[in-house]
Amino acid sequence: MAASRALTRVVRLGSHNINRSRIFQFNGLQRRGIAACIDPSIGLTDEQKEFQKVAFDFAANEMAPHMAEWDQKEIFPVEAMRKAAQLGFGGIYVHPDVGGSGLSRLDTSIIFEALSTGCVSTTAYISIHNMCAWMIDTFGNKEQREKYCPDLCSMQKFASYCLTEPGSGSDAASLLTSAKLQGDHYILSGSKAFISGGGDTDVYVVMCRTGGKGPKGISCLVVEKETLGLSFGKKEKKIGWNSQPTRAVIFEDCAVPVTNRLGAEGEGFNIAMKGLNGGRINIASCSLGAAHAAVLLARDHLCVRKQFGETLSNSQYLQFKLAEMATKLVASRLMVRQAALSLQEGQPDAVALCSMAKLFVTDECFSICNQALQMHGGYGYLKDYAVQQYLRDIRVHQILEGTNEVMRMIIARSLLAES
Ligand SMILES: Cc1cc2nc3c(=O)[nH]c(=O)nc-3n(C[C@H](O)[C@H](O)[C@H](O)COP(=O)(O)OP(=O)(O)OC[C@H]3O[C@@H](n4cnc5c(N)ncnc54)[C@H](O)[C@@H]3O)c2cc1C
Repeated sequence: MAASRALTRVVRLGSHNINRSRIFQFNGLQRRGIAACIDPSIGLTDEQKEFQKVAFDFAANEMAPHMAEWDQKEIFPVEAMRKAAQLGFGGIYVHPDVGGSGLSRLDTSIIFEALSTGCVSTTAYISIHNMCAWMIDTFGNKEQREKYCPDLCSMQKFASYCLTEPGSGSDAASLLTSAKLQGDHYILSGSKAFISGGGDTDVYVVMCRTGGKGPKGISCLVVEKETLGLSFGKKEKKIGWNSQPTRAVIFEDCAVPVTNRLGAEGEGFNIAMKGLNGGRINIASCSLGAAHAAVLLARDHLCVRKQFGETLSNSQYLQFKLAEMATKLVASRLMVRQAALSLQEGQPDAVALCSMAKLFVTDECFSICNQALQMHGGYGYLKDYAVQQYLRDIRVHQILEGTNEVMRMIIARSLLAES
């Protein structure tokens, strides 16, 4: 298979060969490389195992061979993502009548976890795109759903989520971008910061102020790229997430039809937060895939690297560290899956559980990747070794879709509301 040949790049390490492709061999037919206790298919239905295998195969064949190049050359892999959409990954939890796959939040998590073993950054963009498509599917009317969702699900068009502004990050409800009603259009003015896909995407789901201060004055508009007055800042230089552009999105008196408003005036903040509940599970799932890959990379490295006359895998200290990493990985996965189920079922604890999963899993998975890098010694710091890219790519998961400090606020609020 050409793809697996491409993956079989051998990195010389003293007299030992490290085969970087091994981390991807837990997919599909070659599952022998994975220990049963960390197998991500444990507990899944036959159907879930099937699409998990499809996602792992796609990650191994269509993403992993390019992940380093996409990172280093900052390539937004449009064609690869369209291929992913052909497998149903462009609108995983969007309804089938508008082109979605109609799968559950748990199914979605399983897919993003598997895909991100092949490229975290690309998968994370796909997850944001899915969140936007879901927002239009869920809060849009018939015309809006039919107009936007099919092209988003096939990824003929790409979407961006626009909440953050230069002056409003964690305090998102203080946003200032204004939309003033003028006849049958809103006149949109202001700017958004850090927008994933910004400048390269076609559809912008924009939170803006149509009313007074606070969350109740916010509405949600769908803005098309061709809109007059819409422009973009320079492409940001980032330490990770390099296969997707990040830019400011600037609105200078953009006339947006009232018919592009999702939901009623004043419902925008609620729509944005509902999108983010699923977004937090998705981003945590991307961290899981990276951590899983990192555990396998570390294990393989320990088994071949010799110091003090024996392989590092003979060191009890490193064995214990590896055991801790595997334990944190499995605990993290259980947490994400419980939150996904809770959101799917509309449980009252869903918001807090999604926040807990995002907080715990993105922190723990970063620590797993960091430990895996440490186990590689100096080699872990080299770009020839995939472990550093997993680490760089998941660092931002502790910051976006609500920082992990904001997750603590949400969890605490939920606990105190019950007292
Ligand atoms: C690569 C990347 C992609 C992004 N993509 C998008 C996107 O597609 N769409 C979008 O809308 N946004 C996006 N963001 C923005 C992201 O959501 C924000 O960066 C994030 O919400 C934090 O906002 P801020 O950067 O303004 O930090 P600030 O809000 O200024 O916070 C700075 C620090 O202070 C902490 N802090 C703030 N207030 C408190 C408090 N009361 N108590 C304790 N700690 C506090 C924060 O947790 C953080 O650690 C992206 C960001 C990055 C880096």
